[in-house]
Amino acid sequence: MSRDAAPLYAICEIFVSIQGEASWTGRPMIFIRAWGCPLSCSWCDEPLHRDPAARRMMSGDEILDAVRQVAPGLFSVVLTGGEPLALPGLSGLVARLKEAGYWVAMESSGLGGALPDPMVDWLTLSPKTPLSEAIYQSASEIKYVVGGEAGFPSHILERAERHDNVWVQPRAMGDRPDPKAVAHCVEMTLRAKGRLRLSLQTHKYIGVR
Ligand code: SF4
Repeated sequence: MSRDAAPLYAICEIFVSIQGEASWTGRPMIFIRAWGCPLSCSWCDEPLHRDPAARRMMSGDEILDAVRQVAPGLFSVVLTGGEPLALPGLSGLVARLKEAGYWVAMESSGLGGALPDPMVDWLTLSPKTPLSEAIYQSASEIKYVVGGEAGFPSHILERAERHDNVWVQPRAMGDRPDPKAVAHCVEMTLRAKGRLRLSLQTHKYIGVR
């Protein structure tokens, strides 16, 4: 297939920032945000991926050019969303980025399509629905977004007993976490006795995306 015939990807923004969540907190990364998501979480804090005006259809070449321009010399990218798994031809995009020398991370709910081949270098799985065991086994880290409801979600603790990099992250309320969700996550983290870690959206505390 010629590059001209390569798929176009629905993207809503490409920008450089500081990763604020979970294992790679503090690492500068180039964020490639996919437009669209098969889910409609009520707490979603990324409305841009639903804005029709923000949708740009970009070729792999155009994405690579934008990534190079936004942060020359930085070779860490994260595919996020929206839902990057739902991008048709995702494997081709991951291959292009890796061929160009990028370390490629992806954040996904696990829904929307198959995992890419080649596989990304780092998969953050943020489950919102039941998923196959295979995708859990592919995850580099698992990050549960937790609300302020009472009770201890036993499936999170069970997952933490089988995977060594599991996080709970309080749902956002505007540009800060919901205080009830924070309290719930702290309680869960303490009760899990070291199996769970607390992820905060630290980028929001320093006023960056
Ligand atoms: S899966 Fe993520 S991007 Fe999609 S609606 Fe839920 S919170 Fe938003």
